Amino acid sequence: MMEKVEILYVDDEVNNLLGFKANFRLDYIIHIASNTKEAEKILAENPNIRIIFCDQRMPDELGVDFLARVRKEYPRPIRILLTAYADMSVVIDAINRGNIFKFVRKPWINEDIISSIEEANKFYIATSLLDVRNEELQKAYDELDKFAYSISHDLRDPLTGVLSAITYALGYDKVKDIHELLKMMQGSILKLDQYIDSLRDYYLLRRGELLLKDIDFNEVANNLREFYQVSVERTQIDFKVEVDQPTNFKSDISLIELIMHNLLSNAFKYQREGEANKFIHVTIKVAKGIATIEVKDNGIGIPTEAKEEIFKLFYRASNQSQGMGFGLYNVNTALIKIKGTIQVESELGKGTKFTIQIPSK
Ligand code: ADP
Repeated sequence: MMEKVEILYVDDEVNNLLGFKANFRLDYIIHIASNTKEAEKILAENPNIRIIFCDQRMPDELGVDFLARVRKEYPRPIRILLTAYADMSVVIDAINRGNIFKFVRKPWINEDIISSIEEANKFYIATSLLDVRNEELQKAYDELDKFAYSISHDLRDPLTGVLSAITYALGYDKVKDIHELLKMMQGSILKLDQYIDSLRDYYLLRRGELLLKDIDFNEVANNLREFYQVSVERTQIDFKVEVDQPTNFKSDISLIELIMHNLLSNAFKYQREGEANKFIHVTIKVAKGIATIEVKDNGIGIPTEAKEEIFKLFYRASNQSQGMGFGLYNVNTALIKIKGTIQVESELGKGTKFTIQIPSK
C-alpha cells in the first residue's frame, strides 16, 4: 500500500481547519495549525510533511511571508498558498520568487485541493529522487577524485621502488646483493598486489548480489587459523579464535570472510614494537539470530580523533600504515549490504577492539 501523504494546513479560521481535516483525513495524514508559530512547531516535529497549505490573510503574519520564511529551514515540503482574488500581485510575486509552488483560490473546493495535492506530491517525489541521485553523484565524484590521487601516489610509489631496485641490480655482480634487491622488489610488488585485491573487492561490493547460505562459524574459524598460521609463526602473536554457535545462521559467507580478513590483516599489521605478549583474540557468538564478532588486539591503537575517519576511503590513521586505506571502507560497505553494524574501541598505545553485529537472514 502507498504511504499516506502528510499535509500541514495553516489557517486562522478554525472552521476552515476543521472542514479541511474532516474532508481529507481519510486519504491523507492532516496536521492543522491556527497560527504560524504552531505551524513551525508541527513542521519541526513531523519531518515527513510533504505539502503545506497556508492561508494568506492571517493576523500575525501573511501566508507568503510565512512560506518564504519556512522555505529556508524546511526546503522540501511543497508550499501552496490559499488566497482570494484580491491578492493576485502578491501571489505572482511569490511564485516568481519560488516561494510557493502554486495557489488555490479561497474559498476552496475539494476538487481543487485534491488536484493540487496530487500535483504537489508528484513534484515532491520527482525532486526527492533528484536529491538522492545528486547525492549519489556527488559521492561518486568524491571517490573518483580520491582514486585519481591514490593511483598517482599509492601505485606510483611501489612501482618507482621496483624500477630503482632494477636499476641498481643491473649494476651489481654479487648474487647476495642482487638477492637483497629482489626482496625489496618483492615487498613493493606485494603492496601492488594487495592494492589490486582491495580494488577488486571495492568493485565486487558495488555490484555483487547477496548469496545467502547457512554459515558454520567453526569452519570459518578453522579457515582463519589455517590462513594466518604462517603469520603467527613468524610474529609469535597469540592468535585465538573462539566460536559459540548454538543455532543456525544465514548470511553471505564471502562478505563475512572479506570483513574478517580485513580486520585481521590490520590486527597483524598494526602491532606494537617491543610488546612482549602480542595477541589477537577473535570471538564469534551467535544468539537470538545475531552474530556478534569481536576482533581484539593489543597493538598501536587508533587516535580518538581518527575513530570516525578510518572507515573512509583511502584514510590512514598512522605513519605505521603500510596499507592503502581501502580495507575498512570495504568492511563498512560489506556490512551495509548484510545490514550489520561496526563499533570500534581503541586506546593509543594499548590496543583496539572492533565489534561487529550481523543479523541472520
Ligand atoms: P590500511 O590499508 O591503511 O590498513 P584500513 O582502511 O584497513 O587501511 O585502515 C585505516 C586505518 O585505520 C589504518 O591506516 C590504521 O591507521 C587504522 N587501523 C585499522 N585497524 C587498526 C588496528 N587494529 N590497530 C591500529 N590501527 C588500525
